[in-house]
Amino acid sequence: MAERWEEVYGQEAAIGILRGFLKRGEIPHAMLFLGPRGVGKATVARLFAAACLCPSGEPDGCHTCRRVLEGLHPDFHYLEPVGIQIRKEQVDDLERALHLKPVEGRCRVAVVEEAGAMNIHAANAFLKTLEEPPPSTFIILVAEREEDLLPTLVSRCTAVRFAPIPGGEIERYLVEVEGLEKEMARDLSRWSGGVFGRALSWARDERRLSFRLAGVEFAARARRDSLADLLLRLAEMRREWEAHSHERRNEGTVFSGEALDSRSLAFLRKRQEERAKREAMRRRMEAVGDFLDGMASFYRDIIVYDLVEAGGGSPLTHLVNRGRFQEVESEALILGRKKAVENLALVEWARKAVESNVDPALALDALAAGLKGWAALARR
Ligand SMILES: [Zn+2]
Repeated sequence: MAERWEEVYGQEAAIGILRGFLKRGEIPHAMLFLGPRGVGKATVARLFAAACLCPSGEPDGCHTCRRVLEGLHPDFHYLEPVGIQIRKEQVDDLERALHLKPVEGRCRVAVVEEAGAMNIHAANAFLKTLEEPPPSTFIILVAEREEDLLPTLVSRCTAVRFAPIPGGEIERYLVEVEGLEKEMARDLSRWSGGVFGRALSWARDERRLSFRLAGVEFAARARRDSLADLLLRLAEMRREWEAHSHERRNEGTVFSGEALDSRSLAFLRKRQEERAKREAMRRRMEAVGDFLDGMASFYRDIIVYDLVEAGGGSPLTHLVNRGRFQEVESEALILGRKKAVENLALVEWARKAVESNVDPALALDALAAGLKGWAALARR
């Protein structure tokens, strides 16, 4: 996780604007961070919160800053969807917290990730908060597009725009900063579909990359393998992603209790436990998402192969999984485009199911059954 402005790639313009606010001491009460997925909006939002709460006024990696970045600072509030929605109760809780006096710092800062996921009740409740912001609070909404939010919410926020990162830039970054081989960097950049954050997490975490590759492999074999074999493979996958989701990167910050009364301490401990639980869930979703991404990319390649071939072009350069050209080619001939489209729809069905809190194990088993023609188990 980035601890300083300099560690964020390709967002100099947005960061320049934010540092200007901090320097002049004119921080808008509500900001809206807009831009494509995976370009660093959430990272910058956390760094900005750290800057607001840090005595130095800059994210500098100190104890205060680290607690903000880890979500353990009592004056830092963080909202994200539970399942696919941000609910009104979450907004109400935030609203209550923002009206309390800051515990340690001069202000309270709230970051709402995927603000577009607020349901209408949540959005209306939030509107009230924005209309009468509690004193010394700063709120940052993060979203991909303005259209994802109520216009009345948008009009009350100062927009800060984040630039997309071009594919060539992702590749260059992976080589120059992450030290990847050129070919690998090119593959990751292409697989990421231009989502910088995704390419970066694959570059830094072999396990996450292996989930994607396992997804490609699974899709490549699904037609030939028996349903029993596929289910066995998924059971193995499950063990892998459970291990991944419970792996702890660091043990979190130990609280220096002297400044806190026992109630605040208990509150923070509880928050830390909840955070660990959420983190495990997030990592499981990541793994399942990577797996489904891999599967989807294989079926998409079959469709692309078929279309380009039919148009008399050479399919290789259009494929995402170029290293698997022969398998894509043979599956395109046997499976055909129509079946590939159906299979892709099944993968997207599974993704939606998982995002709506269906147990991933159940969703993937149903997906496997659907691929083998047991359509009754996987309804679209
Ligand atoms: Zn600091």
